[in-house]
Amino acid sequence: MAPEKKTGKGNSCPLYKACGGCQLQNLSYSEQLQYKQVKCIRFLSRFGHVDEIIGMALPLHYRNKVQAAFGTARDGSIVSGVYQSKSHRIVCVDDCKLEDETADAIIVMVRRLLPRFKLFPYNEDKGKGFLRHVLVRRGFQTGEVMVVLVTPTNLFPKKDAFLNELLRRHPEITTVIQSINGAKTSLVLGKEERVLFGKGYIEDVLCGCRFRISARSFYQINPVQTEVLYGKAMEFAALTGKETVLDAYCGIGTIGLVAAKNAKRVIGVELNADAVRDAKQNAKLNGADNARFYCADAGKFMTEAAKAGDKVDVVFMDPPRAGSDLPFLKSVASLAPNRIVYISCNPETQARDLAFLCKNGYRVEKMQPVDMFPHTNHVETVCCLYHQKKDFISVPYEPKNADYLKR
Ligand code: SAH
Repeated sequence: MAPEKKTGKGNSCPLYKACGGCQLQNLSYSEQLQYKQVKCIRFLSRFGHVDEIIGMALPLHYRNKVQAAFGTARDGSIVSGVYQSKSHRIVCVDDCKLEDETADAIIVMVRRLLPRFKLFPYNEDKGKGFLRHVLVRRGFQTGEVMVVLVTPTNLFPKKDAFLNELLRRHPEITTVIQSINGAKTSLVLGKEERVLFGKGYIEDVLCGCRFRISARSFYQINPVQTEVLYGKAMEFAALTGKETVLDAYCGIGTIGLVAAKNAKRVIGVELNADAVRDAKQNAKLNGADNARFYCADAGKFMTEAAKAGDKVDVVFMDPPRAGSDLPFLKSVASLAPNRIVYISCNPETQARDLAFLCKNGYRVEKMQPVDMFPHTNHVETVCCLYHQKKDFISVPYEPKNADYLKR
């Protein structure tokens, strides 16, 4: 574990209060881990023993994806950073303890270059200006860097001169994309994209596999701890090479493709079309001809699989914060895979879903929290469930007891 002084208490960020991104920075790192352990125990201990959280050896500058909103301060200067919570005021961030340092430096450089090229941040009220956000992603192992410039229209005055200067200052940038987002929305990226430089995506290496990552695809933001998390997930799955594996909520196929090395067959399902396209490319990139990826709602996909009576041995599921949904869980229960490895960034919704699975034939064998997001109050947990084949009696779904209906 890193020395306390460097990682937490006594060395808080000057923006701690205004930014709100590091909810736990007032605690030392070991206190943060304790807080997260207690949180997991609170929600999950009714299913069994919760193993001790795995912390990050050096919990700094772990975020491989950095997003900055651009705006103009009252004195006319250009600011870039995060929105102050519950406001539209931008807190200017130059270097953040969580974020990748190269990414931060590139964002500051974009901010400095704008006035030189008579380019200005977009003003939503007036509907004028050029730049809304900048997103930078960096491959931790490969060093490849993607810069996404989010603009309200596809216009880009002085594009070539601006890009030449940015690339001269930061030759480590491997691709630049213009994302067009003219909508009044809190979503950063628009649907339309133009590749201005390079191949339009970056690659990174995780658990010995190579992954292509597009601007709009989900990719874990802490690559060091992701290897720890996936390592645990693989340990829990205990694959022998004979299994049919389902990777649900698969993103760009990372878990499924790491599993594919030790499985007979991998099926991945994901809602985001860009991520599925990446996942298919990633299967090729890693020579995983036993992996197939589908673009669909995981619940609907599983319902069809259950109707068709498909056979699945191991299910990995890694849903968003809201957790999984009833169609998915009911279909998993009916497909009755031997093992389910459930990864979640929200122990509350995970507990709700585990309760359903435990009523429908499963027993929780292992629960392992991993600190993927040091200094924030988020915690990730990987759980392993085994099917109790012998004494399995399916419990019908009872609407009056279901939290799902309250959503
Ligand atoms: N397993 C991946 C991604 C996990 S994040 C990884 O470790 O990188 C959760 C993913 O679920 C996101 O990619 C999101 O696009 C996807 N998702 C959200 N709702 C979904 C749904 N209803 N059906 C399928 N995928 C969904």
